[in-house]
Amino acid sequence: MTTEHHDVVVIGGGQAGLAAGYYLRRAKADYVILDAGTAPGGAWRHYWDSLHLFSPAEFSTLPGWWMPQQEGHPFPTRDHVVDYLAAYEKRYELPIRRPVTVHSVHRDGEHSLVRTDTGDHRARTVISATGTWRSPHTPDVPGRDLFRGRRLHTADYRNPDDFTGQHVVIVGGGNSAAQILAEISTVATTTWTTLRPPRFLPDHIDGRDLFHVATHAAANPGAPGVGDLGDIVMVPSVKEARERGVLVARPMFDRVTETGIAWDNGETLDVDAIIWATGFRAHLDHLAPLGLTGEDGRIAVDGTRAVEEPRLHLLGFGNWTGPASATIIGAARSAKAAIAQLVA
Ligand code: FAD
Repeated sequence: MTTEHHDVVVIGGGQAGLAAGYYLRRAKADYVILDAGTAPGGAWRHYWDSLHLFSPAEFSTLPGWWMPQQEGHPFPTRDHVVDYLAAYEKRYELPIRRPVTVHSVHRDGEHSLVRTDTGDHRARTVISATGTWRSPHTPDVPGRDLFRGRRLHTADYRNPDDFTGQHVVIVGGGNSAAQILAEISTVATTTWTTLRPPRFLPDHIDGRDLFHVATHAAANPGAPGVGDLGDIVMVPSVKEARERGVLVARPMFDRVTETGIAWDNGETLDVDAIIWATGFRAHLDHLAPLGLTGEDGRIAVDGTRAVEEPRLHLLGFGNWTGPASATIIGAARSAKAAIAQLVA
């Protein structure tokens, strides 16, 4: 196989990769975007059917072209976001190769060598915008694998249809858990368990306010925020679950049994399914040969640039790679700063 040469290789064609692509195009850089997905949309293609954005379209916009309003949906649906990302990459003719999976990135003199399932690329700079979706996290609770019922992670969940009449445990204290609980509890009995008491944002706070929090954080690094982007947003389905009295969390169980869950106080509960809504980790497996990943699963960065490997930028993983950089608007801001630094 031949080796291609580029100034910049972007790994990942989700919202963060597209934002990088926009600014690289504007800078007239020689670059390519390699994406393992079989179609546009990044993680959005895989979310559960009922997911909506937390904020209206105008607050969830990539650079250059605003997300169109969706008629009848002030908070756009998952499919609308996928359509927007697909149209965006077409509009700007971003040089995306798909599906191409990057297996590894290596130092190669002054360059980086990017090894993929379709050939090698040499680049002066690599931007990893590989998100978290491919690295679901399930905590190592004793007995976790003994359970004989149905067990799944947020990444596997689509809709409540299969759970009708069952007893389902939902594990996790974030937005995914609250939203999945809210819809499953309309057809099944649910038990919600969390490590710490869940933190609910006030009812009037939605993605618009989180956008302002992120804007404030971007302008005032280190300043205290007025909320946390990980706190639970009271979207309509979650409010409605609260009204039905099902939005009540119990302390985390101590072990999993063959038939359900158990606490050390002797209490046990037999259930049909356990859904682990316990989050994701940065997907960085392909960067392992660089030896940069710490025990927390992250790489030390200054802005978006890896401290120990200045030819590498990390984009879109969360606050540690830029304020709210796991959101569309945050990724766009981080990408702008990263490309400005890179071009300079
Ligand atoms: P991804 O979308 O995961 O894209 C990464 C891409 O990289 C994928 O296409 C993948 O195939 C590719 N890839 C991975 N590894 C490789 C490899 N080795 N080689 C090649 N390609 C690779 N965000 C908002 O902005 N607003 C919201 O309202 C919002 N609501 C949310 C609600 C919930 C419940 C959840 C779970 C998320 C929400 N998000 C929201 C967050 C947002 O969806 C994700 O953070 C976002 O999709 C991350 O984008 P990304 O481009 O960083 O990663």
